[in-house]
Amino acid sequence: VEIFNLKVPDDYHVHLRQGPMLRFIVGELLKKGFWGRVLAMPNTDPPILTARDALNYRREIDGALAESSPRYGGPFKPLMTIQITEQTTPEMIREAHLAGVVGGKIYPRDVTTNSENGVVDYAKLYPVFAEAEKLGFIVLFHGEHPSREIEGLKKSAAFLNILWPIVRDFPGLRLTLEHISTRDEVEWVRLQKEGQVLATIPPHYATCVLDDVLGYNQPRGRRPHANISLICKPALKTRDDRAALQEAIFSGDKRFAYGSDLAPHLFPAKCEGACGVYNLEAGLPAVIDLAHNNEHLVVDHNRIDILNRFLSVNGALFYGQGFTRDKISFQRKSEEVPRKIAAFVPGSDWPEPHPDRLIVPWKNGEPTNWQFVGRKG
Ligand SMILES: [Zn+2]
Repeated sequence: VEIFNLKVPDDYHVHLRQGPMLRFIVGELLKKGFWGRVLAMPNTDPPILTARDALNYRREIDGALAESSPRYGGPFKPLMTIQITEQTTPEMIREAHLAGVVGGKIYPRDVTTNSENGVVDYAKLYPVFAEAEKLGFIVLFHGEHPSREIEGLKKSAAFLNILWPIVRDFPGLRLTLEHISTRDEVEWVRLQKEGQVLATIPPHYATCVLDDVLGYNQPRGRRPHANISLICKPALKTRDDRAALQEAIFSGDKRFAYGSDLAPHLFPAKCEGACGVYNLEAGLPAVIDLAHNNEHLVVDHNRIDILNRFLSVNGALFYGQGFTRDKISFQRKSEEVPRKIAAFVPGSDWPEPHPDRLIVPWKNGEPTNWQFVGRKG
């Protein structure tokens, strides 16, 4: 049997949500057992805006961690963020930094889930950028241009016009460009200083294109339906963009790291078009498959080394996290992703499975080629 032994990966972009969904998701993450650090996104409802919000959110996550016992051992460590809005002050950045929050995330207004208080005028944030630069507080960007004049598929590349002046005016600011989806962004990131800029790449952006969302080129015998499990923002793009993302992952470049953008929505919300992909089952197997099938990386040692960099080393270096010695293993074995996953937590407001509380995972009903074997300390 072919086996991939990897360093325990980190996930630098996860939506843990709140309430019963948070308790469910934390339990699922623990059951999988394959994460070291998990960076929690702040676009909850209501959002995480201050140091105090982040500490309360951390307590909620810790509570959920305590009530779930890991099946494979090795709980993850949550890393906290706040959301930066046009109302955020330098003082709020200082307080968040002192509270151990690692960074602040900026959403473009009204583009994605819970982004109503997102930013339109990035120049208004200059005092905040100055403070973040001084403290080494990381600024995370959802990189889509907020202008309604710019078409959705062009918003990612257009956002680089907003980022250029920011890196010029704040050369010491450390920032991330989240869930990159285009060749333009890959090229932009490569032009920035190592250690200053990090880009996260989710597994579905690295392996799928917009055609997969719209239901083109399905395997024979499958209906040409659109795939609601893959609807997300930024939108998936073209084959050329996907090729650029794969090149970035397998270049070993320190500026690219794994961030799943795990974003659970219940089935009724998904049917209404909610954006976000549930990729906890299929995400890591998809990336391992990519490495396994990548003809440019013939030497096995290289392949593992490069994967480790993308999945754990690059992000840990950027976020100043230490290295753990834990390893995880995947073996080559077909395993079907459930068609639907019931979200429930005994003792919560969602005490048992319910038809309105199902999650449709990415690759539902399809096989993945890699099965998680376990984690060793
Ligand atoms: Zn996200």
